[in-house]
Amino acid sequence: MAMDAPLLIAGGGPGGLVAAIALRRKGFDVRVFERAPELRVAGAGLALQINAVRMLVPLGLSDAVAAAGQRLAAGSLELADGTVLQRMDLTAVAARFGQSGVAIHRGALAELLAGALPAGAVEYGAGVVDLRQDADGVTAVLSDGREVQGAALVGADGIHSTVRLALFGEVVPRYAGYTCWRGVAPPSIPVPPNCTTERWGIGRRFGVVPLGAAGTYWFATNNAPAGGTDPADVHGSLRALFAGFADPVPGLIAGTPAATILRNDIVDLPILPRWTIGRVTLLGDAAHAMTPNMGQGACQAIEDAVILADHLAKSRADLPAALTAYEAARRDRVIGIVRQSERFGKVAQWENPVARGLRDLLFRAMPSSLMAGSVDALYGVEVPA
Ligand SMILES: Cc1cc2nc3c(=O)[nH]c(=O)nc-3n(C[C@H](O)[C@H](O)[C@H](O)COP(=O)(O)OP(=O)(O)OC[C@H]3O[C@@H](n4cnc5c(N)ncnc54)[C@H](O)[C@@H]3O)c2cc1C
Repeated sequence: MAMDAPLLIAGGGPGGLVAAIALRRKGFDVRVFERAPELRVAGAGLALQINAVRMLVPLGLSDAVAAAGQRLAAGSLELADGTVLQRMDLTAVAARFGQSGVAIHRGALAELLAGALPAGAVEYGAGVVDLRQDADGVTAVLSDGREVQGAALVGADGIHSTVRLALFGEVVPRYAGYTCWRGVAPPSIPVPPNCTTERWGIGRRFGVVPLGAAGTYWFATNNAPAGGTDPADVHGSLRALFAGFADPVPGLIAGTPAATILRNDIVDLPILPRWTIGRVTLLGDAAHAMTPNMGQGACQAIEDAVILADHLAKSRADLPAALTAYEAARRDRVIGIVRQSERFGKVAQWENPVARGLRDLLFRAMPSSLMAGSVDALYGVEVPA
């Protein structure tokens, strides 16, 4: 295969798009294949924390992301009635790292990332259905029957990754024990403007994330068997589940059109022994889908993408070695976050009154400086030049 064969990316989610942008900036020819027929602009919101925003700086995208979303200055952990357990002022943390976290609508992020690529770089309606590789290159087989040759293939195709299936066989996602609704309420419903709030009830939680002009993203979790569905009156059922939750929760639920409320069981992937074989690797949810409790799934996909591009650029003559080095650089950090997220979710979803009482006491007693210090390792990831 010619040395100048393109790099192929399966999946045009945040991980795949950022990888394409970062690789193009390093001078690679890149082709992205996205299964969906067009750019997806629907969906709820996303918090991009400081570590992810820092990764976007060398790509020239951090200011645009902040302008399209809402900078975050604080986080509040509360009981259902609004009693504050812990409040974290993020302004000092943001000053230390030179960037704030940003809450953004998923559609706005998708448009911004796709807009940073030339027209045609992402081919929509082109799912990767199979792959082959040998010592010289890789072939992606597409859903329309085309076979595309590349120098390497990155599986950024999400938790149900076809690339992962082709490399390692079936990996069954693990149900965390709770389901989650998400929605975006109109901006007319007042919420604190730069602060995310998470309220803890008994086996259920409600989160509020301001998106600025785009409204307010909210999420709601509840312990439940897997595979549940909503009754026709989803507003009524959410109102009943979150009856003890103080304002603005009832208004946010009522103000969100029922047809736009999403429901997903919360799952993650078991830890994979490897992400890479030869000229093919995985990134983002395809490699390490995690529960959303740390708000880090997309952030880690973005870190993967930028660090992968850095390794490929440093080892152009030996791409398989670059992919192996990328995996080695990323695994320990990501696995730690997957496990932390799983643990945090379990504690947050507790129902037992004694355990909850102790937990809440602990959070109330914890100095906020300790909480702020605990994010240093998370946000202080080394950003490649
Ligand atoms: C309730 C909830 C809340 C969350 N909140 C946050 C948050 O606040 N902050 C955060 O950082 N993360 C959050 N996450 C996690 C985040 O959504 C994911 O980690 C992130 O979307 C992963 O990005 P990705 O690009 O790896 O995969 P995806 O976003 O899943 O993108 C994969 C893409 O690949 C495409 N695709 C699939 N199969 C193929 C194929 N065979 N060929 C070609 N294309 C294919 C898909 O259509 C999709 O566009 C949350 C997740 C959930 C469930």
